[in-house]
Amino acid sequence: MQTPEDWIRHGQELRRPLLVHESLGQKSRICIVGGGLSGLCIAYRIGQKNPNIHIDLIEHADRLGGVIETWKDGEWLCDVAVNATRPHPAVWRLVQDLGLQQEFSPSRKEANSRWIWTDGTSHKLSRWTLLKMNPLKLYNGIRSSRKGGASVGDILPNKTIADAMTLGIVNDTSHNVDADFLMPGLTKFGPKPPIGKRKLRKEISKSYPLFSPKPGSTASFRGGISTLTEALISSLNQMENTAIHLNFKAESLEHVCQEFDLKPSAIVWSAGSKTMAQSKLSVFAVGYVQEKINDVPIGYGTLIPDESVPISGILHESDVHATSRAPKGHRLFRIMVPHERWDGEEASVKRALRRILTKADPILFSKIGERSIPRYLPGHLQGIANKQSECSQAGWSVSGVSITHVVDQAERIAELF
Ligand SMILES: Cc1cc2nc3c(=O)[nH]c(=O)nc-3n(C[C@H](O)[C@H](O)[C@H](O)COP(=O)(O)OP(=O)(O)OC[C@H]3O[C@@H](n4cnc5c(N)ncnc54)[C@H](O)[C@@H]3O)c2cc1C
Repeated sequence: MQTPEDWIRHGQELRRPLLVHESLGQKSRICIVGGGLSGLCIAYRIGQKNPNIHIDLIEHADRLGGVIETWKDGEWLCDVAVNATRPHPAVWRLVQDLGLQQEFSPSRKEANSRWIWTDGTSHKLSRWTLLKMNPLKLYNGIRSSRKGGASVGDILPNKTIADAMTLGIVNDTSHNVDADFLMPGLTKFGPKPPIGKRKLRKEISKSYPLFSPKPGSTASFRGGISTLTEALISSLNQMENTAIHLNFKAESLEHVCQEFDLKPSAIVWSAGSKTMAQSKLSVFAVGYVQEKINDVPIGYGTLIPDESVPISGILHESDVHATSRAPKGHRLFRIMVPHERWDGEEASVKRALRRILTKADPILFSKIGERSIPRYLPGHLQGIANKQSECSQAGWSVSGVSITHVVDQAERIAELF
């Protein structure tokens, strides 16, 4: 039974199913598979809440953090995956509990502008953009999405805008993306809050520690997002009830049960799903001398739904964050290059940047990583909500795509102990 306090603590996350085994909360020994943000947060939250529970955390790679990594070169600093978080009290609570308040600040509101590149030119997005979408079609799209299993493209009548939105979040076009998974509050997936929308929003807003974020804003860390994973790792290393095993590949659930002499009900699988398709992208850090690109307005970034262009997004990293990302007198941009669109040549990326961003030559052009994002096809959330599993499941393949979902899910799981 969910109380108003539960909704104030977790907000719309409570619409998402928690895929935990019914006996998980009674275990005295558990194993978490996957040392990305999800596995780290679950271990931290459970281990802090109940020091008598022994936790083994296993990770395939030789480092923890999963897709999260911050790239540095002198004074240039760029996140390879997450660069900022949207507001959610669970993230703010985690930052406070880890003692990171001095490192965490709201992103710059002067850098709010977003553009969309279509028909060979940039268009600034505004509230009017939504109105241009044919309000009646939008209303009908939202209503019919409440039957479940709709795509984001089914809801938003303007394909260009819908694609730009989903590309920015999951690197996929809108007809391939599950609307319930991306915005369960809008499609009314799952249980309803026991208090009115406006009151709930007000109470949630009052519940933030540190500072109350403005709606639609983001916040980030001075040293990049790896500040968060490094603090989690450091706390886990100090906790006597947690053991971390790197370079340990879980071949299957049975393999983990055997190795740790545990039942499947004591395993939390936070290592993604082998059956989900993935889309792959390369990430570039590109830097310019400020005075050579005065024509590039300050802003958040540009989304590019046109699949003939190898770049899907340009993020104005040094404009967005309150703390420095580039040497003085320089600006830094992060470029997303989906492999489905790209011939693999750096020259094609540079040509597209000349067309879309600026004709100036960059003084930094560096590929900083490759990442894969799970494909959340329409019906995904319905599918997992009805799935029976022998073990508990967590992480962004089931929680929601952003770190707000992953971090809040960890708190919800720890509340069971
Ligand atoms: C390019 C990009 C940009 C993003 N931008 C944002 C953003 O701006 N804001 C935001 O909120 N979110 C963003 N995200 C999403 C965010 O990064 C994820 O929500 C979050 O990091 C997922 O954490 P996770 O632990 O669930 O998954 P992962 O980080 O994928 O961790 C899973 C871990 O499991 C391990 N593993 C896999 N298989 C096994 C196995 N068999 N045995 C043992 N270990 C295994 C992996 O090595 C990995 O360490 C972005 C993601 C990407 C890729």
